[in-house]
Amino acid sequence: MRNTVFIVSLGCPKNLVDTEVMAGLLLTNGFMLAEEPAQADLYLINTCAFLPEAREEAYENIREAIRWKKKRKSGRRIVVTGCLSQKISLDELYKSYPEVDIFLPVDAIGKLAEILQGATVPHCSGSPTFLADETMPRLLLTMPHVAFLKIADGCNNCCAYCSIPGIRGHLRCRTQESILKEARDLVDGGAKELVLIAQDITAYDQPGGLGALLRKLNDVHGDFRIRLLYTHPAHYTDDFITAMAECKKVISYLDIPLQHISDRILKAQFRRVTTAETRALLKKLRTTIPDLVLRTTFITGLPGETEAEFEELKDFIREQRFERCGVFAYSPEPDTPAANYPDQIPYEIARTRADELLELQQSIMLERNREWIGKKDRVLIDQLFEEGACGRGSLDAPEIDNQVWVTAPYPLEVGQFYDIIYTEADEFELHGEIQ
Ligand code: SF4
Repeated sequence: MRNTVFIVSLGCPKNLVDTEVMAGLLLTNGFMLAEEPAQADLYLINTCAFLPEAREEAYENIREAIRWKKKRKSGRRIVVTGCLSQKISLDELYKSYPEVDIFLPVDAIGKLAEILQGATVPHCSGSPTFLADETMPRLLLTMPHVAFLKIADGCNNCCAYCSIPGIRGHLRCRTQESILKEARDLVDGGAKELVLIAQDITAYDQPGGLGALLRKLNDVHGDFRIRLLYTHPAHYTDDFITAMAECKKVISYLDIPLQHISDRILKAQFRRVTTAETRALLKKLRTTIPDLVLRTTFITGLPGETEAEFEELKDFIREQRFERCGVFAYSPEPDTPAANYPDQIPYEIARTRADELLELQQSIMLERNREWIGKKDRVLIDQLFEEGACGRGSLDAPEIDNQVWVTAPYPLEVGQFYDIIYTEADEFELHGEIQ
């Protein structure tokens, strides 16, 4: 059982794609994958380090792996990769967890198999430059009909509260050809939903930008749909918005993290967009793209956020009635400008404000979901149950949003599209019948 690997992937879909590439590289280099830790002799954890909660989850998983390692006298190894090993000093990590055999930075992903076979020694190159492309083997760990398509890595935006540019490095984009080749392979392999991801997909800087890429992806042969996650409000172009509206395979769904609406806070966040520009962009999107579903995120409790600024944000959410919305309570990230701002707000206040917004959003989601009753949609079936099936239509991204329960007079198939009409809805789920 040498070289049998149990993999844990933590964090966001971007990290999941890295895990999938590592799994692909291991399989093509003679390693085997284990479904249970007990079957493995190597425990690989691909970590997230975005927020304190994510780091705590990573540490918990490391402790779990250490318990696993100690159950046997020898021959078991622990490898920790990803954002945690990039963010925290390796000296500190090895000192805290001497039982871990290797902590690997982001740039080691492409050389993982050689490193584990002892053929290459990992070295930390500072700012990461790794960017997987279509030539790297990749084992999809999502449902077989859904695939995340990472078009870039790193970020140049340097928002004042965010540690990601320091962890993932500067923006680097894949060529259009590389993305198209992978998209064709994924669709030929059975993917029905391609989800474009990056730290900021609207920063895509290859010729023609994101608009040109969407048009090319839309021309890829096959019955599939395209969903977009992680856009930045300062980087929308008219051409991209037109492409969204024109391309039939691109779902009318946009994830556009706004983070706040107060001009003072947006400036302190280094978001390079004003209140007026944000409102104008949302108006343009709603009028140009029919039936648009908007997902956003906000951060509460930024240093100095006054009651009045929080109320301004609440009013904005009531006014815009986003279909989907997440809220983070701010906590200072070491080595970010916002961590050194005066007037830090106690975390409990930030959390209370976040909970208040989430409660407000719950009532908005109920209304928004109910507005779909009687409307038609195309649902991709994810799972079958005795009493029916569940899937997702336009409103819901995989692993992020909600589900649609579908009843049908005949058996449905996972990974197939069906036209439905929505019949019922609550805050979190919708119900529909086959047309
Ligand atoms: S856009 Fe801002 S919040 Fe998003 S990853 Fe880049 S720096 Fe972080």
